[in-house]
Amino acid sequence: MKFNIPNQIIALTCPSCESSLFSINENEIAICGTCDLKLHKNELIEQNNISDKVDTNKITTALTKEMQKMFKGKGWK
Ligand SMILES: [Zn+2]
Repeated sequence: MKFNIPNQIIALTCPSCESSLFSINENEIAICGTCDLKLHKNELIEQNNISDKVDTNKITTALTKEMQKMFKGKGWK
């Protein structure tokens, strides 16, 4: 069985323009469909993992704000 799909579409976000339309060529190079940025597939996945970490920080900030509200209710500024 032969696997040769030159234009496999995957759902990852471009670190440059935040487009999620990529085509992967036979050398595992992901090419952004919007800005033509070329990145190795693994590198692109790595970049997307970094984005996940940023999102986690946002959640932490939201939780901190909730805690500050609780403290304010107890006279904490
Ligand atoms: Zn792009």
